[in-house]
Amino acid sequence: MYGFGLAKGLAITFKNLFRKPFTIQYPEERAQQHPRFRGEEFAWYEERCTGCASCAKYCPLGIIKIVTEPSGTAPQEGDKYNLEVFDIDIGRCMFCGLCVEACPYDALFMGSGFERGRYERSKLVIPIDELRQAEKRPSTWFRPQLEGAGYNPHEGQPRSWREVGREGWTWHQDEKAGGKFPENARRPQPLTRRIGVGAGPDSSRPPGAVEDGREE
Ligand code: SF4
Ligand code: SF4
Repeated sequence: MYGFGLAKGLAITFKNLFRKPFTIQYPEERAQQHPRFRGEEFAWYEERCTGCASCAKYCPLGIIKIVTEPSGTAPQEGDKYNLEVFDIDIGRCMFCGLCVEACPYDALFMGSGFERGRYERSKLVIPIDELRQAEKRPSTWFRPQLEGAGYNPHEGQPRSWREVGREGWTWHQDEKAGGKFPENARRPQPLTRRIGVGAGPDSSRPPGAVEDGREE
């Protein structure tokens, strides 16, 4: 019917005429953000980071730069890495969160900030020292353990590396705190103890059978 569309349009106009406006006066006022908000500053925990570079490989834009060197602290276990460079170029970041999803050690989290306007692109790169020193308020994006604990980065306290992982941290505290293995920890067993030949309990195994590597 002629004019019906016009009336329908005007009805919507009148409906919104009396609705409370959603506009807020930023920066004096701020919209409430969800704890899963994927913010710009990233929270990186060096104590948890192995330098595996999974995050860098999964980033579709290739904007995470990682340089490592052998630490020399655990050569018998294959050694650990020291992180020399861990830079994130957020000038090109689309905040998809794939790098966080790819991290197997809960070492990288999205941040909760959104105010990093700069006049130069080079200043949009977050260098490793800034990541190290930053106060860490990790987003709960892809981190159910933080959500389960009711953590809200916009209200709660900063979180240390011990508080953000999915597993209890005590079992690997020596490996991760300070990045050093304890003396004589997890040394490979001598071959004669691992192969089922000779005297003792191992003699019941067929020649050449190998244990599962557990300590006796
Ligand atoms: S959020 Fe996405 S684009 Fe940004 S660094 Fe991570 S993977 Fe790359
Ligand atoms: S942040 Fe995670 S994925 Fe990236 S290098 Fe460290 S442990 Fe690997």
